[in-house]
Amino acid sequence: AEQLSPSHVERWVHGFVDTVEESGEYLTDLDRRSGDGDFGTNMVTALRRARRAMAGVEATTVGVPFQVTGETFLAHSGGTSGPLFGMWFRDFGKVGADAGALTLAMLAEATENGWATVARLGSAEVGDRTMVDAIAPASVALNKAVGDGSGLVEGLRSAAEAARVGAEGTSELLGRRGRTSYVGESALGSPDPGAVTIALFYRAAVESATA
Ligand code: ADP
Ligand code: MG
Ligand code: MG
Repeated sequence: AEQLSPSHVERWVHGFVDTVEESGEYLTDLDRRSGDGDFGTNMVTALRRARRAMAGVEATTVGVPFQVTGETFLAHSGGTSGPLFGMWFRDFGKVGADAGALTLAMLAEATENGWATVARLGSAEVGDRTMVDAIAPASVALNKAVGDGSGLVEGLRSAAEAARVGAEGTSELLGRRGRTSYVGESALGSPDPGAVTIALFYRAAVESATA
């Protein structure tokens, strides 16, 4: 596909929910090493709720599945990451709010907006060992893909790979934001769970676009 339809986007978000469910224990374990050990559980709970909410709403635009997910996070989920993921999904929802198809340029815009939002709310910069360390490289990759005139799948693949590498790289970073800033060196060697989750989000995008 060169554009994502509303049903592609639904598949993307559902695929993301499935992978986070499968990775829930792992993500919680990562948060145990670098925080308080609730991340996976919080994400799975919020995303299961989002899946139920999506089932009751018709995806009339490509923004709807993201909007529903964002509002679910904002209304129900706890922890630091709940509001951050809520605002992240809200930014994707906004870009697709009136659109019947999602292009690579729109995805680049949503990612850039989401990056700015998370950075502002969390006062997080690249290198602080947060989800920003996966978002930023994905954003750079998407903007480059748009500039190069890449196809949608190619662009999404480059974003997914950049996010994966960025997330992996957090293993070597000392935390400067959130709870991980209290645990110091004991977090070294394992990646930031929020960053890993962003990488899963883009991987799910590739899968939805190629399925
Ligand atoms: P906590 O249990 O510490 O309240 P969560 O477990 O819900 O937080 O979420 C932890 C994740 O949130 C981290 O892996 C990180 O990616 C992200 N995070 C935490 N603090 C910030 C921040 N200030 N800015 C951006 N992201 C953050
Ligand atoms: Mg936590
Ligand atoms: Mg917590």
